[in-house]
Amino acid sequence: MTGVTIPPECLRTIGDLAERAYPAECCGLLVGCRDVDSDEVRITRIVPSINLLAEETPRRFEVDPALRFRLMRELRGGPEEIVGHYHSHPDGPAVPSARDAEMAFEPDLLWVIVSAGAGGATETAAYFPLPEGGGFSRAPLL
Ligand SMILES: [Zn+2]
Repeated sequence: MTGVTIPPECLRTIGDLAERAYPAECCGLLVGCRDVDSDEVRITRIVPSINLLAEETPRRFEVDPALRFRLMRELRGGPEEIVGHYHSHPDGPAVPSARDAEMAFEPDLLWVIVSAGAGGATETAAYFPLPEGGGFSRAPLL
């Protein structure tokens, strides 16, 4: 099973962004490295995105595709790549929603979900989508 490493400062930043976006969802991209030998994903930094859906539907999110495209170009040829994305669940648990499962069509992309209330983030968890719309498998945070 793939383990995931997130530096504490990245976790803190995601928590802060979740609190600031509350009661809407925050979202963004996770940049890092895949270690093929140890089957580990090491997150090196997070890149916040505007949530394209924050205005109309506060309980959903969409990462700006232009940001993703720019970032892919920037990282091309280097050791880092886009390894996943994060979003917050205002007043909800850090588990994927039914809507999240519908959107999980990229099996290599890690999902980090942070549970957030008015007082800040309470829990963070990481998941990988299972093939064929089979939901998610939780990835241990190392
Ligand atoms: Zn969600």
